[in-house]
Amino acid sequence: MSDCIFCKIIKGEIPSTKVYSDEHATAFRDIQPAAPTHILIVPNRHIDSINAMTADDEQTVGYLFSVAKKIAAQEGIAEGGYRLIINTNADAGQTVFHIHLHLLGGRRMGVMA
Ligand code: AMP
Repeated sequence: MSDCIFCKIIKGEIPSTKVYSDEHATAFRDIQPAAPTHILIVPNRHIDSINAMTADDEQTVGYLFSVAKKIAAQEGIAEGGYRLIINTNADAGQTVFHIHLHLLGGRRMGVMA
């Protein structure tokens, strides 16, 4: 999608701190980190949200979790633990409508709200 900020990051049209990329997924540091490690893992193919997912997207979205596992190890937070979150629509606080998996770690997380 031409006006999607994450599509632009994937294509390198706007700056980001990338920590991983391959043909299916890209990961970069969140611009407003909520934890010492806060990385967003996104599919390279634009999908608005989990609500917009089809059966064809299952592999792509599932793959984000494999990338998260790799990055958690890379960041040294795999053993200590980390949290993975996908916000969907307004009540969850989704602000960017390109599916993204938040990888949060490096501190003890509170109870989920
Ligand atoms: P969400 O609220 O789940 O839609 O998360 C969107 C996330 O994208 C927020 O944590 C923002 O801080 C982050 N974000 C927005 N713009 C950028 C950007 N240009 N580079 C990195 N992270 C961004």
